[in-house]
Amino acid sequence: MSLIVQKFGGTSVGSLERIREVAKRVAQTRAQGHQVIVVVSAIAGETNRLLALGRELSARPNEREMDVLVATGEQVSASLTALALIEIGVPACSLLGHQARIVTDHVHTKARIEKIECDRLHEALKQGSVPVVAGFQGIDHEGNITTLGRGGTDTTAVAIAAAVQADICEIYTDVDGVYTTDPNVCPSARKIGRISYDEMLELASLGAKVLQLRSVELAMKYGVPVHVRSSFNSSEGTMVIDDKSLESVVVSGVAADKSEVKLTVRGLHDQPGVVAQLFEALAERAISVDMIIQNISEQGTTDLTFTVKRDDLDKTHEITSQVASGMGARQVLVDQEIAKISVVGLGMRSHAGVASRMFRILAARGINIEAISTSEIKISCIIRQSSADDAVRALHEGFALGG
Ligand code: ASP
Ligand code: MG
Repeated sequence: MSLIVQKFGGTSVGSLERIREVAKRVAQTRAQGHQVIVVVSAIAGETNRLLALGRELSARPNEREMDVLVATGEQVSASLTALALIEIGVPACSLLGHQARIVTDHVHTKARIEKIECDRLHEALKQGSVPVVAGFQGIDHEGNITTLGRGGTDTTAVAIAAAVQADICEIYTDVDGVYTTDPNVCPSARKIGRISYDEMLELASLGAKVLQLRSVELAMKYGVPVHVRSSFNSSEGTMVIDDKSLESVVVSGVAADKSEVKLTVRGLHDQPGVVAQLFEALAERAISVDMIIQNISEQGTTDLTFTVKRDDLDKTHEITSQVASGMGARQVLVDQEIAKISVVGLGMRSHAGVASRMFRILAARGINIEAISTSEIKISCIIRQSSADDAVRALHEGFALGG
């Protein structure tokens, strides 16, 4: 007997018909002798609908209230899923974030889980009932409802799997698994059978939306095996596991991320503490910065370029302009037309020449590189957004990733 966490995303609970299918799958898993904890997202489109309502009332809506608003999406799907289970004879009980005791910090709209008190989950399992947990939400220490950021149900699921020491966390979605690149952009994209936490972490941070980044971090930290698979069929999906059991492929995936924007501060004083002051101000507002490039200085000033998520642009622009003008900078430029294109692979650790090959492939398509960053297993280039799809296809072919 295994303990399995099954997470169902928005399209997997997209209609009553789909919810009945979810209930059947849970019943089947139980019939095989396993214990199941279910975690659900809101019905597809619902979170967007709720966000739009809030934003219609307020251009910069209060974040505490937005959390209360969007958390209702998962309340609906959790209760409907529990109802569908009970209807086919499976005892079930929905649990909201605060009932499942998912305790987070107080950062509204992107809270982090601090701990999960599992008593209620264990109690339900002991009674032979299936806990159906509303994903994406938690409660802070003052009892406020918080949410975990878009795609946060993945994180709820993995965090629960870690907390109850489940044997596996299954992520049911509308694709068959993790692909070498986006099949909508590149028809020769292939499903990857097994991928390491490290590679998945890079791909998720690049906007391969199949898993929320934080969920992969947690899976890696606690060694939770994650199986990403389709809720529309019963094929095996992609196993995300420890890299020690994998052969390291030089490049295992190509990703394009269009969710970032680039800011450049011109004429910043080049002296100790200036960069610290700017990024501290951003960190205080929980804005994460991705790429950072500072150039050589001329006459004591320099240009600093960095990228952030598009959603954080307004806040970032405001803070950067304030700090920059306080430090005598000339200008803050915003560029929204960028894409970050990356190749990821464990084998890069031991193979030289991957970067130069990437640059050559892009050059051959006449694609200009505006910034570069690397990690042990990833190389990323900022390019014009209009060339992103072309770049993905060229790299996928150039690194022979097709089927
Ligand atoms: N419903 C939330 C969202 O749309 C959380 C999730 O689906 O994972 O982002
Ligand atoms: Mg998702």
